[in-house]
Amino acid sequence: MSFFKEVSLPTGKKYQQPTGLFINNEFVAAKSGKKFESINPSTEEVIVEVEQAETEDVKVAVEAASKAFESWGSRDPFERIKYVYTLADLIEENKDLIAEIESLDNGKSLVCSKSDLEIAVRCLRSIAGWADKIDGRTIDNGPTHFTYTRREPLGVVGQIIPWNFPFLMWAWKIGPAIVTGNTVLLKPASATPLSALFAATLIKKAGIPAGVINIIPGSGSKCGNALIEHPDIKKIAFTGSTEVGIGIAINAAKHGLKKVTLELGGKSPNIVFDDADINLTVQNLIKGIFFNGGEVCSAGSRIYIQSGIYDKILPIFKQEVEKLKVGDPFGEGVFQGAQAYGGQFQTVLDYIETGKKEGATLFSGGERIGNKGYFVKPTIFTDVKEDYKIVKEEIFGPVVTVSKFDTVQEVVKLANSTNYGLASGIHTTDVNKALGVSKLIKAGTVWINTYNDFHQTTPFGGYKESGVGREIGPEVLGNYTETKAVRVKLDLSQIEK
Ligand code: NAP
Ligand code: MG
Repeated sequence: MSFFKEVSLPTGKKYQQPTGLFINNEFVAAKSGKKFESINPSTEEVIVEVEQAETEDVKVAVEAASKAFESWGSRDPFERIKYVYTLADLIEENKDLIAEIESLDNGKSLVCSKSDLEIAVRCLRSIAGWADKIDGRTIDNGPTHFTYTRREPLGVVGQIIPWNFPFLMWAWKIGPAIVTGNTVLLKPASATPLSALFAATLIKKAGIPAGVINIIPGSGSKCGNALIEHPDIKKIAFTGSTEVGIGIAINAAKHGLKKVTLELGGKSPNIVFDDADINLTVQNLIKGIFFNGGEVCSAGSRIYIQSGIYDKILPIFKQEVEKLKVGDPFGEGVFQGAQAYGGQFQTVLDYIETGKKEGATLFSGGERIGNKGYFVKPTIFTDVKEDYKIVKEEIFGPVVTVSKFDTVQEVVKLANSTNYGLASGIHTTDVNKALGVSKLIKAGTVWINTYNDFHQTTPFGGYKESGVGREIGPEVLGNYTETKAVRVKLDLSQIEK
């Protein structure tokens, strides 16, 4: 039985898309015989059918990962650098193809997919170098003891990723887990399994031993849940909605008090002060909310503009937004492609209707484009009140609200008046104001005169209901290691004589 299907890409390329579960470095069938369709959100057509993992498949993959952990977890960490580096090299060699697969399956513009691939490769290379630099402490307890700590891998970890950055999440989740000596079961989102499966072929090519990384597409409720409930999985790393994340934390606590890291939603404020550079800020506001079709957990979805600049910047913002090219992700100059899947597309359109009903002014956009494919016009609402749903809830699409403020104190209060705390933006030419306000914002990331500006060295994660733990940068390593303290009672009788 073959688990590869030829797929034609809109660029004219053809490639072999894996469709099986990737367990023990082989593509295999799901035990239940079930499959699910992966849809192209730009055309609403089926691309391929993919094997659907459930509890029995998770069991098999956990066995493979447990066996692999016996040697992967205890080998010289320096060797792990080479494997992860080779994987990064292979991804780089295939980056154009993976970017195209991503745009086909997720609908994001090719420009976005290509930028994801660049960051993914950088994340893998950067984290690879940490493998042999994870060390403990020696602790001075006086003459009677010798005490030291060592950091050990956890074992088999489960990773559940979303559909908005399918490949980038693949790389930034897998990298730190295997670099620290763990082995992995990764569940891609059902809406976007294709890049994850294609990249699985590179795992084998990189010579990474069988069972170290297993990719198991399936639904959240069955496959995702089976990961959380399996007794031999020691940790769950999840990126997705706050609602599902909270459920996962509760369920993981009931199943062996598993360690959990959560990278969840946001409703991030993007603040413009009177002294901001108008043209730069307009581009940052656009990148903040319309990059990746607004399907970004850190999206700057609440814009606050100080009253002295409000009337100057708003028309320019509208004019620039209306110039953005939206449509076929493979089209020349296209900035925004399709929303990733039908359900999310509908959610976005529903929020637009809610905004209109709540009494906000629809300043730009506000409707779908065409009648095939999940395309939504970049949408700006003004005249909003803080208690409107469109101001409080994460929309996760190309929809932004704009509010006016007068004082620093007022905007800090507004910025923090949310259960989320993932990111924020500050736009000003006054460095004192920028740094002062950045201290007051309760969010994991503050971007100053930039936005959605990720870097492989810089930790990412949320305050409040935006999550637990940090991704990328050296901070992530703590999520994948346990600290063991070793205390040796010394017998000094020979020396004291
Ligand atoms: P979601 O349900 O949280 O999905 C994210 C991942 O979790 C997917 O792989 C999903 O699997 C899986 N999942 C769902 N229910 C699960 C469960 N009970 N146990 C284990 N895994 C489970 O997010 P969504 O419904 O796709 O999107 C809803 C909202 O989430 C969006 O509107 C947005 O606000 C937010 N979101 C945030 C991020 C982020 O980066 N922080 C990313 C995506 C979405 P399947 O989809 O395969 O069933
Ligand atoms: Mg799809």
